[in-house]
Formats: sequence, C-alpha cells, structure tokens
Amino acid sequence: MDFHKTRYIPMSRRRRIYEGKAKVLYEGPEPGTLIQHFKDDATAFNAKKHEVIEGKGVLNNRISEYVFQNLNDIGVPTHFIRRLNMREQLIREVEIIPLEIVVRNVAAGSLSTRLGIEEGTQLPRSIIEFYYKNDQLGDPMVSEEHITAFAWANPQEIDDIMALAIRVNDFLSGLFLGVGIRLVDFKMECGRLWENDMMRIVVADEISPDSCRLWDIKSNEKLDKDRFRRDLGGLLEAYTEVAKRLGIMNEGEPPRGAGPVLVKG
Ligand code: 5GP
Repeated sequence: MDFHKTRYIPMSRRRRIYEGKAKVLYEGPEPGTLIQHFKDDATAFNAKKHEVIEGKGVLNNRISEYVFQNLNDIGVPTHFIRRLNMREQLIREVEIIPLEIVVRNVAAGSLSTRLGIEEGTQLPRSIIEFYYKNDQLGDPMVSEEHITAFAWANPQEIDDIMALAIRVNDFLSGLFLGVGIRLVDFKMECGRLWENDMMRIVVADEISPDSCRLWDIKSNEKLDKDRFRRDLGGLLEAYTEVAKRLGIMNEGEPPRGAGPVLVKG
C-alpha cells in the first residue's frame, strides 16, 4: 500500500476513534491507519488543571514528527508514517499497551518527591519505570510482576519495550545534547503492530515537550510542560525554542527541518 498518496477526507466526515486530553484519533484513509490530531489543550495533575494554549498542538506535531521520523530512520520501529498538515499525522493503527514507560537520567518530578532526591541530581544510571495508564487511578506506578500478572504485557514484550526505551533514550539524549538541552526524563508508549500473523512492539503516541523534561544545559531553564504544571509561564516560547534548536519551524516551513543546530559552548 502506498501511504504517500493519501485520499483526502474532509474533517467533518471522518470517524472519531478516540479523544484524549491532548490528541484526537480519527479513522485513517486506508485500513490499518489512523490520523493523529494534536490539540492545543494543556492538562496536568490528571486533568485537574486545564488550559488551551494556542499553537501548542502545532509545535508538538512538528517536534514529535521530527523525533519519530528520525527513530524510523535509525531502525527503531514506530507507528509514525508521515505528517499530513500542521496538526495531523498519518500513523499505523496499533494495539496500545496500557503502560506509560518513563525513562529517567536525572532526578526530577515524582522520582524526587517519592525518594527525596534533589531535583537535578544525576542518576547513577538510566532508570526505566512503568505506570499503568488509567486516568481514574491517576496512572499508578507498577512493577513487572503487576504487568505480567494482569496480562498487560508478557515477559518477552516487557524485554522488547525495555530495549526500545533504551534505544529511544540514547537517541534522544544525543539529539538534545547536540542542541544544548539535557534530557532529564521522558514518557513513551508502545503498541502491538500486527502485520499478517506477525506482531512487533513499536513506539507509539507522541514524544514532545509535553512528555519530556528538557532543561537548557547552561541555564537549567525548563523547556517543557513543567512550565505549565508549575505556573512558570512561557510554555509556547519554550516549545518554540526546542523546535528552533532542532532546526524545524524556520521560515519557509520545511516539512522535516534543516537538521539540528549545533550550540557552541
Ligand atoms: P513524573 O513521573 O516525574 O511526573 O514524570 C516523568 C516524565 O514522564 C516527565 O517527563 C513527564 O512529562 C512524563 N509523563 C509522566 N506522565 C505523563 C502523562 O500522563 N502525560 C505526559 N504527556 N507525560 C507524562
């Protein structure tokens, strides 16, 4: 199937499959595809805090496109096919595994709170954590024991997810370091992609400043959703800065950007 020739379906005629806090999924133009639409809604603390920040969806669409296209290019399988427009991407339909996989390099957020480790402390090694994706329960942290006992994923799938998480962390850490940004931590999601009788685990959802902690190397300024969570203001400016440093969102709007901009020390 040629995913590069997409039938245009007017938005009003599209079937909405799922609406989340920051994204909507629509039926795609071909079987096995979906359209992922990025909204401007910002939520935190299990949607208790909510605001619409005009332009956030556009930035996350572009930044996530950049990350996922690069992951595809280096052989890390993802659900991403291509960007369709300023707010939408064509993706492969996957069976989402109900886990949030968090990878941490530097102590921050809930890890700092839970274990009393000062924010900004370099961790002895990268740490992978699992959270059960369930809004009603506030996404509780779970262990591999819970995951296998409740059949959210089997041991082989957990191994595959951890291998993907390590590859994504290595890639993202290097990508951001090259543009003067420290990748403190991030959240990713995985899905099962079925191709005939074969199944493989792929990276799904989005990877953007909504789901990463990104600190400027020199100033430690936060360039991520903590600006919203902690009422720091300037979220749009911070996300624009990330996009600019990655070489996307320049004049002329090149679809994939000119590549990362090296920040000299
Ligand atoms: P923490 O557990 O410290 O709150 O979050 C760890 C990392 O995962 C942060 O980068 C945070 O942005 C991301 N993260 C955790 N839960 C969610 C979530 O439900 N949605 C999004 N977008 N990111 C999350």
